[in-house]
Amino acid sequence: MYSVMSPKAEEFINDGEILETLKYAEENKHNEKLISEIIEKARLRKGLTHREAMVLLDCDIEEKNKEIYALAKQIKLDFYGNRIVMFAPLYLSNYCVNGCEYCPYHLKNKHIARKKLSQDDIRREVIALQDMGHKRLAIESGEDPVNNPIEYILESIKTIYSIKHKNGAIRRVNVNIAATTVENYRKLKEAGIGTYILFQETYNKKQYEKLHPTGPKADYAYHTEAMDRAMEGGIDDVGIGVLFGLNLYRYDFVGLLMHAEHLEAYKGCGPHTISVPRLRAADDINPDEFSNGISDDIFAKIVACIRVAVPYTGMIISTRESKETRERVLELGVSQISGGSRTSVGGYVEEESEEDNSAQFDVNDNRTLDEVIGWLIKMGYVPSFCTACYREGRTGDRFMSLLKSGQIQNCCHPNALMTLNEYLDDYASDTVRKAGKRMIEDELEKIPNEKVRETARKYIHSIDEGERDFRF
Ligand code: SF4
Repeated sequence: MYSVMSPKAEEFINDGEILETLKYAEENKHNEKLISEIIEKARLRKGLTHREAMVLLDCDIEEKNKEIYALAKQIKLDFYGNRIVMFAPLYLSNYCVNGCEYCPYHLKNKHIARKKLSQDDIRREVIALQDMGHKRLAIESGEDPVNNPIEYILESIKTIYSIKHKNGAIRRVNVNIAATTVENYRKLKEAGIGTYILFQETYNKKQYEKLHPTGPKADYAYHTEAMDRAMEGGIDDVGIGVLFGLNLYRYDFVGLLMHAEHLEAYKGCGPHTISVPRLRAADDINPDEFSNGISDDIFAKIVACIRVAVPYTGMIISTRESKETRERVLELGVSQISGGSRTSVGGYVEEESEEDNSAQFDVNDNRTLDEVIGWLIKMGYVPSFCTACYREGRTGDRFMSLLKSGQIQNCCHPNALMTLNEYLDDYASDTVRKAGKRMIEDELEKIPNEKVRETARKYIHSIDEGERDFRF
């Protein structure tokens, strides 16, 4: 039985409800009246149910699809402005005891190089990341209680936060590690993590079990209920996602939104972010062997429909996607991207040879962070290295209620400009610096509150004088 409030995975992600929803959407995909009503509801910016969102995803009336895209763009602008938050992944270890069929770290892959960073290695990687200009990391690790126990993760987080190289600092560490216990989530919270990220991979239980034949991750319920435990352990900001390509995208789209609804109803706060990765080639993994790959057009539609269905949730896209795809989905709803990423263990200090490959997937966007920053500025986006909300305690429902009230705009925009200015002064190439400085001048004028505008201007001047880390 479907119950959004149930603590049981199979009840809040209910197969029967998903199948009913898919049938309903199929039957209504040309229902112009219903689609118009749903679009009108979405204009209120209070979100949509999974059923309504699925009807929009299936909608095949061209005019209505244009309206959906336009609305997604507008909602993106209203809530996130033209800011794009930057982050980088940091792979700590690729030892893993699981058998995930789509991931090269799976236990049976004997020809991938297995690596685990020591604390000294982490120091070197973090210095390399700071020297690029990064302030926000997502740490990644395979699941291996012997090689990567929670103590190792906690020690690594401590090391990362402790490194201050030149003007660099990692100010927010998000964590993407396997589903774990409430007690371990509590420890992560105490270690000062930002978002806890865990992808569901697929919400379809049968397909999930097929793709995860062995290891602790094979337990669908334990994995699916992980965010409830994370929140019970005190983590306010959680990030969900599916790996598109593993299963029929329509099914996973509905599952993803049902998960968001469950967190909001049961825990009082929806997900902080939704990630939309697509399956990529990697050692031992050929995406062509998975028959559920999705086209760029469907991918863009998914992003637009998530944007209108959950307007307050940040959306993340990684370097799995090409420059062209990233360009397309940035305007439709994506608010956070990685740049200059290495998906191998130790890859920021040393580029790997083919024989020594420890990467989780092939990167599609190989540009440096500076190139990505220059590209964003050229398109009119403000690259933001801001980490202020979480450091000011604006997390979970406090962050959401600020966002919903529109108040967040009063701090996000100046914070974005100030952190961009730090980047420009410390790390940018001449061309990017010039373009960025021009952008900051123009964007400062757009801050409506005069007091905030003048304070931001003063802080930006102080940054040019060598001071760092101002925030609203
Ligand atoms: S997806 Fe995660 S759990 Fe599965 S093999 Fe890869 S690293 Fe291990």
